[in-house]
Amino acid sequence: MQSEPWGLHWFRRDLRIAGNEALRENWKRNKARTLGIFCFDSKFLSRDDFSHHRFAFFIKTLEALKADLQARGGDLLVVDCLPHLALPQIFQFCRNKKLPLPQLVSWGRDYEPFARTRDEKIEALLKKEGIEFFHQRDHLVFESSEIQKPDPSGGYYQVYSPFARQWLKLLAHPDGQARIESQKAARPFFESRNRDQHFFKLTWEDLTKTSGFPFADALATFKEQNWRNVTIPIPEAGFFEAYGQVLKFKNTMHDYKSLRDIPSVEGTSRLSIYFKNGSLTTAQVIEALGLKSQAWGQDSGPNQFLKEIIWREFYYSILFHRPEVEHKSFNPKYENLNWENDEKLFDRWKEGATGFPIVDAGMRQLKETGWMHNRVRMIVASFLTKDLLIDWKLGENHFMKELLDGDMAPNNGGWQWAASTGCDPQPYFRVFNPWLQGKKFDPDGKYIKTFVPELKAAPAGILHDPEADRRPWKYPKPIVNHSLQREKAIRLYKII
Ligand code: FAD
Repeated sequence: MQSEPWGLHWFRRDLRIAGNEALRENWKRNKARTLGIFCFDSKFLSRDDFSHHRFAFFIKTLEALKADLQARGGDLLVVDCLPHLALPQIFQFCRNKKLPLPQLVSWGRDYEPFARTRDEKIEALLKKEGIEFFHQRDHLVFESSEIQKPDPSGGYYQVYSPFARQWLKLLAHPDGQARIESQKAARPFFESRNRDQHFFKLTWEDLTKTSGFPFADALATFKEQNWRNVTIPIPEAGFFEAYGQVLKFKNTMHDYKSLRDIPSVEGTSRLSIYFKNGSLTTAQVIEALGLKSQAWGQDSGPNQFLKEIIWREFYYSILFHRPEVEHKSFNPKYENLNWENDEKLFDRWKEGATGFPIVDAGMRQLKETGWMHNRVRMIVASFLTKDLLIDWKLGENHFMKELLDGDMAPNNGGWQWAASTGCDPQPYFRVFNPWLQGKKFDPDGKYIKTFVPELKAAPAGILHDPEADRRPWKYPKPIVNHSLQREKAIRLYKII
């Protein structure tokens, strides 16, 4: 390692090189001598919402990042240790060996309550150690603190539409445009995949070959331990895969508005899993797709897509300003609803055996692929809360366990929207009718038949008829009567 200065970039959910501004700053200040570290504590494996599938995708993303860094002369070390314990051990090792300490530790900002507390702890630790640190906005185009109401109260938005208008105003502003423009380099980076470009100048070997280094790379061990619990195909990961998906979506983006609600077609971008781990950012996607706030009034695929990106940022803003929504209803009035929480019904929902074909197709798609179409997420979430009268928190937790794109802010926002407990939610008296939803969005049953194969030969008509007898196809009777449950649900909310 000699005595030259070096820097440490602490990767968290910014698992890419392209457009990673904190990494770039570190690289610049340390003349390309920047090492990457990722700290994962294996105690997380026993967390209540831990998902072996999501972790498998995460490991694949780390592998892709490590390969991308190594191909460019850099490196990533994955340690099985919490950052507030790992970093001091590395610093102490450097001191013992009379090696220079990193002169800068950098990271991309994250906003979940747990992450904010952790980061404050690391800042305090680095201050104590006398090590400079630098963090930068990363996966949001606009951070929640930037989007405030213009009135004197300056509070945060609790309703989507004014939030979106303000967000678009900032996007149109030269500073907002500069954020998008700065992501232009992602395309040439994508195209340079196979080119030999050694722009990093330090690898972990320089440190780890010295006796007494406290950590061995844990990536392979994590992979091996986790793999035996993986029962679904895990998609390819990393920036190059993600950006390729963006370019593929660009070809169909103009049909997004008409196709996005049809679960049997691939009408959506399928980018959420990449956003979750930061293989890609929304700013990169906006740049790559040429999305503009100026054309907002138009009823078009690109505008609708931008609206969805803003929903993501809206839910991040809510989680930032109201971190308690992680465990509680956004609307305190609905915190103590008298949910029935029938365990048998909950199991039937999880298994995709409710006797409601569209609900079962969604739940089986989730189980078999780790993903579910957005329209169907809304249907099954509404069904769990308003038809089965089961607490949205149980559904939210189940989604976190099963979804490859499981992400606290949009997941919590989506569940609280469906359960009518959130900000700007579906009004409690507007209860989705799963039969009509199925008929409207999967009229010929193509989606249902893909995931509920026992109904493959059934005529489409019986898939959406509450009275039809589906026993000849060995398919269960509906576990509840939708009309009766709807009345019950409305009463449940009304008495509060
Ligand atoms: P596209 O339709 O292509 O949308 C593009 C991007 O916009 C998405 O990748 C996502 O980042 C964002 N987006 C789209 N719809 C929404 C939305 N309703 N709310 C917030 N952001 C949105 N999304 C997650 O990323 N992680 C979750 O854990 C998650 N849980 C959900 C739970 C429920 C009950 C509901 C109703 C929605 C949830 N969503 C979640 C939002 C949405 O369903 C997914 O983002 C979307 O289905 C992902 O597919 P896509 O990338 O093809 O989306």
